[in-house]
Amino acid sequence: MVYLDNGATTAPYPEVVETMKEVLQTYYGNPSSLHHLGVQSEKVLKQSRELTAKFLEVSPGEIVFTSGATESNNTAIKGIAFQYQNRGKHIITSAVEHPAVLDVCKQLQDIFGVRLTVLPVDSKGMVRLDDLKQAITDETILVSIMFVNNEVGSIQPIQEIGNYLKSFPKIFFHVDAVQAFGKIPVKPETLGIDLLSLSAHKFHGPKGTGILYVRKGTQLTPLLVGGGQEAKFRPGTENLAGIVGMVKAMRLTQQKLKDQPDALKRMRNRLVEGLQGLEGCYINSPEEGAPHILNLSVPGVKSEVLLHSLEDKGIYVSTKSACSSKLDRPSRVLMEMGLGEERARSALRISLSYENTIDEMDYFITTMKQVVPQLKQMLNVR
Ligand code: PLP
Repeated sequence: MVYLDNGATTAPYPEVVETMKEVLQTYYGNPSSLHHLGVQSEKVLKQSRELTAKFLEVSPGEIVFTSGATESNNTAIKGIAFQYQNRGKHIITSAVEHPAVLDVCKQLQDIFGVRLTVLPVDSKGMVRLDDLKQAITDETILVSIMFVNNEVGSIQPIQEIGNYLKSFPKIFFHVDAVQAFGKIPVKPETLGIDLLSLSAHKFHGPKGTGILYVRKGTQLTPLLVGGGQEAKFRPGTENLAGIVGMVKAMRLTQQKLKDQPDALKRMRNRLVEGLQGLEGCYINSPEEGAPHILNLSVPGVKSEVLLHSLEDKGIYVSTKSACSSKLDRPSRVLMEMGLGEERARSALRISLSYENTIDEMDYFITTMKQVVPQLKQMLNVR
């Protein structure tokens, strides 16, 4: 099997599974309990928070553990909208956000009277700083822009946006960095970010565990109320095994980035070079995009058809983002990039992890060279 769908999810590292098993069996005490077992669990939780903060180069008090990026995004965006509604009700986001951001903003627009500006992107899937500058008003309370696009891998100008927003102390800057962690450096403080979302299962951690970085001094109206855990931002008994597993995965992933900083890029370059000679195959990702995502199209061959032909050869890829891949619609991201409906209906996303190899890239290229001409002939595509 050649698994090239790491943007959808990754296989947990065996060390992560082992650690989680140990935590489930040993540290089952509730971290809020006063007895010895509770104190032990609380200690593990505290250590996990400290390590997470260290990896992101922030303070432990700025880390909130959540159930994943969907929750982190909702907590950040709604939390700011509710908390600072008297300051203004204008939010700025981009047209290529994951639904866990875009649909949250739209929901606030529909039921909470938020005015929403959705910034367009250029042909590389990038927002323009000038568009953002023009969109800001006295009513703006939040800008939410993703770090790395999950379908095509465009890296947004987060540093520039963060720098620019420093002169607007009343505007919060939220970044969905789900596809960035472990692939490019993610340092919220130096990037001028106030809120940042991560999801463990995208970097070989467990599903159902995530992080929300909340810069010190930022207030959020919590989505949930209850026991007061996670500084009241996210009450509920903590998923300790998930959190410890996630921290382990963070450590291992960061180590891979440090030890093999070019590994993903080398594999992606190999794919681009190998596919160059394949007639009718177009690369949709920008050259300077994230090293682990490559989006391509074979116009005339629908994404699903190519996906299943590759699956028959043991290769697993995505059509677009995992959560929208069952909808029979052209990719919204590619349409926003102006690549046209034909390219958007035939798009495939190949997403890599450090566990992939150059040999697997070569197998993918060989298989594409075999399968694509056959499909084109069968479907009468010129
Ligand atoms: N944001 C981005 C950019 C994603 O790629 C995903 C998952 O595909 C999410 C948010 C949602 O993450 P989760 O499913 O862990 O809540």
